[in-house]
Amino acid sequence: ASVTTDTEEVVPVAEAPEWVEKVTGGRFAGQTIIVTGAGSGIGRATASRVAREGGRVIAVDISQERLDEFAADHAGADVVVVSGDITDDAAIAAIVEAAGDRIDGLANIAGIMDDMTPIGEVTDAVWDRVFRINVTGTMKLTRAVIPAMLAQAKGSIVNTASEAALRGSAAGVAYTASKHAVAGITKSSAFMYGPSGIRVNAVAPGPTITNIEASFGSPLGASRVQLAMTLLPDAAEAEALAASITFLLSDDGVNVNGVILPSDGGWSVA
Ligand code: NAD
Repeated sequence: ASVTTDTEEVVPVAEAPEWVEKVTGGRFAGQTIIVTGAGSGIGRATASRVAREGGRVIAVDISQERLDEFAADHAGADVVVVSGDITDDAAIAAIVEAAGDRIDGLANIAGIMDDMTPIGEVTDAVWDRVFRINVTGTMKLTRAVIPAMLAQAKGSIVNTASEAALRGSAAGVAYTASKHAVAGITKSSAFMYGPSGIRVNAVAPGPTITNIEASFGSPLGASRVQLAMTLLPDAAEAEALAASITFLLSDDGVNVNGVILPSDGGWSVA
């Protein structure tokens, strides 16, 4: 092989070793990865990154319209969209069926923040809705992919916790408690399935610019809150979270199991 430089000089290059092929093929080449919440924000950015790194993406969201946009933006990539609610057993079955024989990774990213009320004011309806999507949805889809991953003796699952999984938070009791539960699912699963080759981790995003802002009731405005809650010069974009999630999801995270990784510009140490 040879490369031509700017000066038109021909520089001989040694035959590439096998690992170069693997790296340039992308971290997800040959892999099937399920990403929930793929219609918007962090899930969309993660699904996009997996597709661009050669993976076959099963993109899941409750919004068919958002999935159609995602598919149109990724024409030519290996993308299968499944619209459905992650709390619905029929949808879970359709997602696993769409994945087929092999499920290399699962990124549980779909989640909601409802009103930000403290425990003295929270309604049963808000509590149930937030737990059903953030906690039960994460549990159900994880449970559904375990058999395939056990059969392969390999798999990587990344859950989406929050800065609100690490301490008390202004995000309200239902959301904060639900994200602590996601951390619990993560640690329990890492403990139970690590010996079978399945890694389970979570990312804990700080405030990130996405559509979830719509449920941010701050008088300061979402972007001001986001900028106030990072030690870095800029507020986090969804792509920054996708970078952290795909690190854990890919073989780059090979020795990482059971962590709740803050991806918050250092806010959790402030
Ligand atoms: P987002 O609202 O932009 O995207 C969430 C997506 O999930 C939407 O497309 C929505 O349609 C989908 N979804 C919601 N409920 C669903 C269901 N039942 N079944 C299938 N799909 C469903 O939000 P985001 O900010 O990208 O949030 C992604 C995750 O990150 C959530 O778990 C959220 O709690 C977490 N998180 C976000 C922030 C932040 O500041 N944005 C901070 C900490 C944690």
